Amino acid sequence: MESSIECTSFLDGMDEEGISQPYPLSQFSSSKPSPNNTNNSCVINPVTSVNELLECPVCTNSMYPPIHQCHNGHTICSTCKVRVHNRCPTCRQELGDIRCLALEKVAESLQLPCKYSSLGCPEISPYYTKLKHEAACDYRPYSCPYAGSECSVVGDMPFLVDHLRDDHKVDMHSGCTFNHRYVKSNPRDVENATWMLTVFHCFGQYFCLHFEAFQLGMGPVYMAFLRFMGDETDARNYSYSLEVGGNGRKLIWEGTPRSIRDGHRKVRDSHDGLIIQRNMALFFSGGDRKELKLRVTGRIWKEQQSPDGACIPNLCS
Ligand SMILES: [Zn+2]
Ligand SMILES: [Zn+2]
Ligand SMILES: [Zn+2]
Ligand SMILES: [Zn+2]
Repeated sequence: MESSIECTSFLDGMDEEGISQPYPLSQFSSSKPSPNNTNNSCVINPVTSVNELLECPVCTNSMYPPIHQCHNGHTICSTCKVRVHNRCPTCRQELGDIRCLALEKVAESLQLPCKYSSLGCPEISPYYTKLKHEAACDYRPYSCPYAGSECSVVGDMPFLVDHLRDDHKVDMHSGCTFNHRYVKSNPRDVENATWMLTVFHCFGQYFCLHFEAFQLGMGPVYMAFLRFMGDETDARNYSYSLEVGGNGRKLIWEGTPRSIRDGHRKVRDSHDGLIIQRNMALFFSGGDRKELKLRVTGRIWKEQQSPDGACIPNLCS
């Protein structure tokens, strides 16, 4: 008994709808039909769209190899096959170990639009690379940039800005310069780090200023950095500076904001921002070192670009 049986009898009429490109017939002619599996043909209505065929009837997710079927041809994804204890949820028959290779091959020949096509993505990808594209698609919604709590909200910028203001009670500021005071009554308390986020609106864009305390190596530090609410390419059009000081000393950081596509944790761990050792922070705070009072000033500016965006004026004759 073969451990996997191809179902080859439903190919007629598969190109009626749902396939944007004709599937290469050579793929099918190369799989040799075995004479003894005619009872194991998939029972599939040819007018059903191919997309529906590739949807697992149990979990409704798209199916990827190995795609399984019962002896009556009911298909099921490999995750659900385990979940239903190897019994076909449609006809209650034992599922065995039959793979629906023809459906797998039909899937291979499909070219499907990105699931964010309604958000503007023009990408058409082969079925099996579609998920990979969508995970990195430029048009995919952004995750909430709020740090310090697990927030699973996703959306576009206007939605996330409203969400930050209404649900996280984040301070909103307009303008490209800022002057911010961070006060913490117990500066020893780095473990219970507070994350502070302020949103700045300038140049028609939104920027997130993060301030947080964490343990770096053996010592506690404070860190401030800026993230751009947009993708990395657009983030490179901006620069920012941060300044903190007191008692005649000053630290200055200048950098490019990171996209909020990069998690705040990732930015923090790459030290891409103004890092202040606690002793220095307490020195800047003045007073009796019992309270942390940091004044962080900053500025965001747009980088000058030539119209084609590529030339640096001095290097172009
Ligand atoms: Zn499933
Ligand atoms: Zn069945
Ligand atoms: Zn896409
Ligand atoms: Zn959120």
